[in-house]
Amino acid sequence: MKLPFAESFRIKMVETIRKSTREEREQWIKEAKYNLFNLKSDHVFIDLLTDSGTGAMSDKQWAEMMTGDESYAGARSYYKMKAAIKDILGFDYFLPTHQGRAAENVLYSTIVKAGDVLPGNSHFDTTKGHIEFRKAFAIDCTIDEAADTQLEIPFKGNMDPRKLEEVLKKYPQEKIPAVVLTITNNTAGGQPVSMKNIQEVSAVCRKYGVNLQIDAARFAENAYFIKTREEGYADKSIKEIVKEMFSYADIATMSSKKDAIVNMGGFVAFKSEELWKKCQMFCIMNEGFITYGGMSGRDMNALAQGLDEGTEFDYLKTRIKQVEYLGAKLDEYGIPYQRPAGGHAIFIDAKKVLTHVPKEEFIAQTLGVELYLEAGIRGVEIGAILADRDPVTRENRYPKLELLRLAIPRRTYTDNHMDVVAAALKNVYDRRESITHGYVITKEFPIMRHFTVELEKAR
Ligand SMILES: *Cc1c(COP(=O)(O)O)cnc(C)c1O
Repeated sequence: MKLPFAESFRIKMVETIRKSTREEREQWIKEAKYNLFNLKSDHVFIDLLTDSGTGAMSDKQWAEMMTGDESYAGARSYYKMKAAIKDILGFDYFLPTHQGRAAENVLYSTIVKAGDVLPGNSHFDTTKGHIEFRKAFAIDCTIDEAADTQLEIPFKGNMDPRKLEEVLKKYPQEKIPAVVLTITNNTAGGQPVSMKNIQEVSAVCRKYGVNLQIDAARFAENAYFIKTREEGYADKSIKEIVKEMFSYADIATMSSKKDAIVNMGGFVAFKSEELWKKCQMFCIMNEGFITYGGMSGRDMNALAQGLDEGTEFDYLKTRIKQVEYLGAKLDEYGIPYQRPAGGHAIFIDAKKVLTHVPKEEFIAQTLGVELYLEAGIRGVEIGAILADRDPVTRENRYPKLELLRLAIPRRTYTDNHMDVVAAALKNVYDRRESITHGYVITKEFPIMRHFTVELEKAR
């Protein structure tokens, strides 16, 4: 008999989580102004809000915490992190930052000015925020296929090199500080980018003399998909694939809360010594001295260890299999989601579930609230609230997709939890016809409104 698949870890420490009643949840979500970010985590049973910083560190990472060097300058931990970034990603220069958006802040404070254009494949919300805050423009060049949730293609996160070239042709080189390639493509459903696509995008960047920035939050998951889906990579190790991926890039920004499996941390890495030096000023001003940036020594140690563990095939297989497991359960129940299952999350196609809720009443948000009410499960809206308003007209932007993202923390929940998530979704799905209205906004920030938005029932 062929042995079944099992996790590549065992559990050494546990954290209790608690269920609640529907009445309690109705009260809590009302108090939270129907914004899932406003809930107390104690009021959540299974928390799939994000896979960012929510993973379980390993015994080795915790051991690294004990040997961190907290020296202000030139700490051992800095050199450990430097060695890991060089060995695994291949960059000579880097600045530690407190998380991914801080890496974007340091980089864009240095290279982006008003009126600039940064093409990309579905820029992440903080990336777009940092671009638009500087009165520059994030132009989406994702392949059209990404918008068809039911289409199964192996690399649905790709950038369209033709769309990219049109943008690069249209604007002068000095207006394009970087092309941003996000791997995996979070916003399009945790969908991977192929090595071929990275090569093509890089070639277009070279042709027009612009920098290729990789948004590397989930680079290791992307490498797993290249190994398992792309011709010619099956026999390469994850670490070999990772090295090749970054060989085509000039800059990488990293939220280490994802694939480096730490609770806090990030960095911006450079091939160019000159650009690294230019960025140091904003690092010192906004983050900290260049050898710790926004991080403590112990966290840099854990990050270095996490980069190594996060690029091991068995770990990645365990992780991505769990996401696929949830996807397969949803298939069983006929619940539509962005196909195929992504690397870190399942993205429920809310428009296909709640067909009676008008887009002005925030379809994916409505589904998120329903799932919370059903079983205390917290997902996050990737729809019109997140898409925010047009920076010029200030009108709501209604994206093609209204998705409810269920992000799965690394090494944190078991498949039994996934069974509960799937069953709760089935219950919501079974009563979908009775859900006819959603929510309207009562309060919002001028930018990145989704974190703090307040809502009330539409009718
Ligand atoms: C999380 C994330 C970021 C921002 O990182 P933070 O650590 O949350 O600041 C940037 N890009 C992508 C693709 C992300 O997933």
